[in-house]
Order: sequence, then structure tokens, then C-alpha cells
Amino acid sequence: MNYKPFIPPERILMGPGPSNIHPNVLSAMSRETIGHLDPEFIRLMDEIKDLLKYAFQTSNDVTFAVSAPGSVGMESAIVNLAEPGEKVAVCVNGVFGSRMKDIIERCGGAPVVVEGEWGRAVDPSSLEKVLSQDAGISVVAFVHAETSTGALSDVKTLAEIARHHDCYTIVDTVTSLGGSELKVDEWQLDVVYSGSQKCLSCPPGLSPITFSNKAVQKIKNRKTRVQSWFMDLNLVLGYWGSGGRRTYHHTAPINSLYGLHESLLLLKEEGIENAWKRHSNNGKLFCGELNSIGLKPYVPEHERLAQLITINIPDGTDDAYVRKNLLEKYNLEIGAGLGPLTGKVWRVGLMGYSSSKKNIDLCITALNNSINNR
Ligand SMILES: *Cc1c(COP(=O)(O)O)cnc(C)c1O
Repeated sequence: MNYKPFIPPERILMGPGPSNIHPNVLSAMSRETIGHLDPEFIRLMDEIKDLLKYAFQTSNDVTFAVSAPGSVGMESAIVNLAEPGEKVAVCVNGVFGSRMKDIIERCGGAPVVVEGEWGRAVDPSSLEKVLSQDAGISVVAFVHAETSTGALSDVKTLAEIARHHDCYTIVDTVTSLGGSELKVDEWQLDVVYSGSQKCLSCPPGLSPITFSNKAVQKIKNRKTRVQSWFMDLNLVLGYWGSGGRRTYHHTAPINSLYGLHESLLLLKEEGIENAWKRHSNNGKLFCGELNSIGLKPYVPEHERLAQLITINIPDGTDDAYVRKNLLEKYNLEIGAGLGPLTGKVWRVGLMGYSSSKKNIDLCITALNNSINNR
């Protein structure tokens, strides 16, 4: 046996996440580890909370990063907000909506599915119909940017409908935070979670999350204990909460938080509106270029995500060969289709630091050559 240090190949990450990491984030992460209750670390946690409020466009006090990937943000949102037996309307238009439904069931909640079409936005009238037929529903859960299909849903409208029926909202913004317009306060969203490795361009393993005051009150007044010790907000707040003294809950991933802080500084420096604009412009540019080499996006333009574009695989093209060729010849990673879209689409990510003109040009050239020069 001859084990050596692992040196990763240089890859251009244009899949559904992770995206490439900004060099400043990587270097921040290699700084000396300090104690997680060190006053300087607590100061860093406070700054991260402030910077996350900016990213989410909220003044919610309870805004922090869950020490785990986006799926745990999803689980934290659901396990805290929904009590056993509570009816939760869940919009399913792709893999991540289905995952929410699965978690609601496992938490003892009663999911009521709002069926959607893969590759399309959630239809507000379908949600309206489900809510008006069942007055027992108290929470509505949906995904902003469905990374499995490339569809962008209208969060503002869906949240309005939910509010009209006195429902709390849980919104998945794993792929949209920092990439698509998102206004937590203005749109009056209740629990919103995200992930570090998509448009924030950090390594995976952190899930930014924010809770409205209304959601926090609901959680504090639960009749039952939150079933998960690790995710119970009432306990986590002793560690991440404001005021009072911070007490040990778990050991935060210290160096990952250095990285998140750095990436949020970069976002602040760029300006959130500019970041949304850059993603949107690059998405449009990419689709225009696709058209010029005879490829077509899968999602209709008005519902299409800019930072994750699904492309119809042309008839007779070998899906696996093209992706392998991209990786081997161009060091370029794109994503395969998921679920019913397996073999039908490619998924190209233009997220965070990976969303650049240079990457668009490379991807177009690489796709064109791989499809046509077999
Ligand atoms: C990636 C993703 C998740 C899950 O995040 P992980 O960090 O992989 O656990 C959840 N929802 C959406 C929309 C995603 O794109």
C-alpha cells in the first residue's frame, strides 16, 4: 500500500453544485483553527449572521448557518415548524419537492401534495385549489429553484396565496440564494433555508437558514418536543442566538465558517442585485449560445432558471459519452438528468464563481465538439 496526499484534479464545475470556489474562500478556510467559543469566533458568528441577513434580505434575528448540508436545512425547517399530525401542503415539481414530502412524512406530519409538472414552475392556481379545498392545512412548503429540472417558481405569489389561507411558508432557496431575486422580508416568508455550495460558491456542508418572528413563536409554543435533538431550534439558539451567553451545543465547523464569511463578504462587495443580474445575464447568454449550436433548453423561457439550465439531449446522442468526454478532455463537469429526466437532459450550472463568460464559451465549445466529433 502506498497512500499519498490527495491532490484533486483541476475541474471546472458546471454541474448542479458544488460550484467552483473563489480563491479567497479557499485561502480563508486554510487559516488557523481557533476555539468555537473563543470571543473572536463568536464575533465571527455574529458577522456571519449579519451578512446572511443581507443575502436573504431580511432583518430576522434568527438567521444563521446550520452545520450540515442543504438537506439538513430542509429537515430543520420542517422538523421545527411542523408538529406531528399537522397538515403541510407540499408542491412537488421535481426531486427536491419530493424530498420535502418524504421528510414531512418522517417527521409525523401529514403532507398534502400539490402536484406539479417536471420542468415547469409550481402553478399558483394548483396551490390555491388545494388550500381552498382543505382548511386544515397550516403550512405550505415549496422549492424556489428546482435544481433537478431547472425551473424557477414565483415565490412572492405562492407566499401570498399561503398567507391568504393563514399558512406558514417553508421555502427551499438552496440554488437561488445569491443567484435569483429573493426578498425574505418583503415577500413575508417564514422559514427559508439554503446551501453553501451553489450560488455562494463555498464548499458543501453549511445550510444558511432564517426564521420569521412568527415562525419562532410557533416553534416556542409547540405542544410536542422537536423530534430531533440536533436540529431543535430551541436548543440551537443557545449557541447561535442573540444576547445572553453562548453555550455549547455542538462544535461548529470552524474553518467552513471562515469560508462562508469570506464568500458573504464577496457577495456584499459585488452587491446582491448585481449578483442576481450577473446570473440572469449569463443564463440568457448561455441559452443564446446553445441555440447557435442547435441545442434547446428544456424549460420554457419565462420559467427558466439562469443558474441551472437543463438542455434537451439531441436524439441519437450518447449522453454518457458526452459527459465523459467533457470531463476527460476539458476538465469540465456538467450534471446528468435525474429521475424521469435521466438520459433526456443535461444540467449545466452557472452558479456563483462558476457563472462567467469564460465558462460559457468553454462549455459551448466542449459540448459542440463532443456531440459532433465523435
Ligand atoms: C442541492 C439542493 C438541496 C440539497 O442540498 P445538499 O447540500 O445536497 O444536501 C436541496 N434543495 C435544492 C433545491 C438543491 O438544489
